Amino acid sequence: MKGWHWKTIAAVLCLVFAATAVPTGNSKAMADIGDIKVKGSDLLQAQPETTYPGDVIFVRSKQVTAVTMFQATYKLRKAGDEYVRFIPIPIDVKPGVYALKAADQKTAVNITVAAKTFANDSITVSKQMNNMRQNTKRIEADQVKINKARSQSNPEPYFTSKFIVPVDGTLTTPYGYQRIVNGKLDSRHLAIDIANKTGTPVKASNDGKVVLADSIYLTGNTVIIDHGINLFSFYGHMSKLHVKAGQMVKQGDVIGEVGTTGFSTGPHLHYGMLIGNTYINPNPFFAGSPYEWKK
Ligand SMILES: [Zn+2]
Repeated sequence: MKGWHWKTIAAVLCLVFAATAVPTGNSKAMADIGDIKVKGSDLLQAQPETTYPGDVIFVRSKQVTAVTMFQATYKLRKAGDEYVRFIPIPIDVKPGVYALKAADQKTAVNITVAAKTFANDSITVSKQMNNMRQNTKRIEADQVKINKARSQSNPEPYFTSKFIVPVDGTLTTPYGYQRIVNGKLDSRHLAIDIANKTGTPVKASNDGKVVLADSIYLTGNTVIIDHGINLFSFYGHMSKLHVKAGQMVKQGDVIGEVGTTGFSTGPHLHYGMLIGNTYINPNPFFAGSPYEWKK
């Protein structure tokens, strides 16, 4: 996050929201691991062991093929000589200690979810612009297209290194902002917005395969890249696209240019990262490769 200024530029508004996750945090989900061996096992690893709402943990094991957490079961995927999976931490989960258990209940790792405050952001937009978001038919049709693009992911990771911030500019909206639009509580902004001049090159944040390069009603000219093991990056509001669906890209390849297409009032890149269809905080991916995240 070096060199970024945390400020809001009123002229640049990104009004693209993702639905807030269904609450899963409750006291029942608290660690209840009895006499299961918790620490010091190479059998099951989760990184990092201290995380935040809206972040993600990387689970890996040589033997365990399924885990349970937040009262859900997750199958791990074979990648090389191990089984791996990203598990998103729900953004509205209560801070506390949660058990990540092997499905056979023999091994568990305690995951600490630390408290994090997400700022509120009050904005006022014209009635006309706000009404743009009511075109549900087009929005639903786009969502079908987007979900299809993210329905499959390469079983092996395409990437080996950490991700790069895909464009130079000013961070105008961090991940997780709670938006209040025209005085009404709206959804959270589950991506980051980086403002810069129209035409500024937008680069692939890591190696992968372009699975969508299309004009989308809300996010304008949009690219989605599959990085493998169910991890995707999302680039919105671009003025021009330089890639096509099906194309392989390397980290740093120019995939498009900054713009203000779609539901936006100024040139910026809307950059999101997803595990399947769940938006997660991109920042840990810039700080280090998931394979290097501290235990
Ligand atoms: Zn945005």
